[in-house]
Amino acid sequence: MTAAPTLPSVPVSEALFERAQKVIPGGVNSPVRAFKSVGGTPRFIARADGPRLTDADGKQYLDYIGSWGPMILGHNHPAVREAVAAALQDGTSFGAPNEREVLLAELVTRITGVDKVRFVSSGTEATMSALRLARGFTGRSDAARKYTLKFRGNYHGHADALLVEAGSGLMTNADQLGQAAPSSAGVPPEYASLTLVADYNDPAGLDTIMRERGHEIAAVIFEPVVGNAGVLIPSADFVAALNRVRESGALLVADEVMTGFRLSLRGASGLLGLKPDLYCWGKIIGGGLPVGAYGGRTEIMDFVSPVGPVYQAGTLSGNPLAMAAGLATLGELERDPEIYQRLERYTAALGSGLRDLAGQAGLPLTVNQIGSMLTAFFLEGEVRDYGQAARADTAAFGKWFQALLSGGVYWAPSQFESIFVSAAHTPTDLDFTLSAAQHAFAQL
Ligand SMILES: *Cc1c(COP(=O)(O)O)cnc(C)c1O
Repeated sequence: MTAAPTLPSVPVSEALFERAQKVIPGGVNSPVRAFKSVGGTPRFIARADGPRLTDADGKQYLDYIGSWGPMILGHNHPAVREAVAAALQDGTSFGAPNEREVLLAELVTRITGVDKVRFVSSGTEATMSALRLARGFTGRSDAARKYTLKFRGNYHGHADALLVEAGSGLMTNADQLGQAAPSSAGVPPEYASLTLVADYNDPAGLDTIMRERGHEIAAVIFEPVVGNAGVLIPSADFVAALNRVRESGALLVADEVMTGFRLSLRGASGLLGLKPDLYCWGKIIGGGLPVGAYGGRTEIMDFVSPVGPVYQAGTLSGNPLAMAAGLATLGELERDPEIYQRLERYTAALGSGLRDLAGQAGLPLTVNQIGSMLTAFFLEGEVRDYGQAARADTAAFGKWFQALLSGGVYWAPSQFESIFVSAAHTPTDLDFTLSAAQHAFAQL
């Protein structure tokens, strides 16, 4: 007789997290993965297929993070996997132009209507480079235009000058008109002083700051639908005020890193009637590999080196494997635009299901949803800006999150993030999610 195998006393994820914390700050390579705001041990993921993740202990979860946005087709999609595998046969990086860059640039310009696009390797690089370009372009005739304007609670990656009032947990107070302090250590106040801040969804506030300081502003950067303070949806008046920005000579820069190719093939701008001068992309454009991009009309884009005076470069930019993943992902979306209607239907049903269940449990819940983006705020009343979102009961959210996770549903581990539905989620998955949510509400 053989002895029964002894079960591991410590789950693999916990053991890995112990080891990771010794060699990686906080055990993670991007902070929100650490579960700091909800408590508990992050799960180490061993593999992912369709709408599901499998952790290192073999436990499965229905995934609503989608790698924070890129996996709109679901994980390990055959078209993407096969495109990357095919590209891999030809080598991994050349440091010289390759055909896949041209193909993806042709696809992106055709879908979005921009004339030219430059590929980088992350969303952070895209926004940082787009703002440098905006300063270079507007500054050609007007050196006073050194400021950029962003909105409270919008996140644009981690470039120094953009870490000002940048999303959840990073808020400070504006002192004078539009001026605010950095929201990270290590950012000199001199850098932050070049970034003005206004309130999201406040058209009158935006008009005022543009009237008084518009002549000094090179660019207004914004999330066309906010995902990084929880989901915030812009009002029609705010969209109109954004479209007026360029009357002052500043460029309107849409940060579509999260919303691009997600809310429609033409992103949030296409859906909402925004008319940006420059677009920033990331996440979906790389189909799960590291890609970012920025684009706009030729007149502006030709200010970028080597044709123009604005320097911007990247050793791995336009990497052939990453281009292959982007091509396959955008290709699938363009081939089957019905995907967007399905995502909207599923996510709206998820939202109304959550509202009903919270109501039955006697709990306040405000659900903001648009397309496949959704945040369930644990509070009463509408949420249109960061100040309103910040009233949420984060302790209740944390408990609900943990109950969902033990029920096999992997929600975003922060109250101030969007969840993402993918094309691989099914009606059966929706039922599973709502019954796990009902159970989770009952535990509050
Ligand atoms: C994720 C995100 C970024 C940063 O992209 P990274 O690839 O993480 O650098 C910038 N802007 C928005 C709106 C984002 O959601």
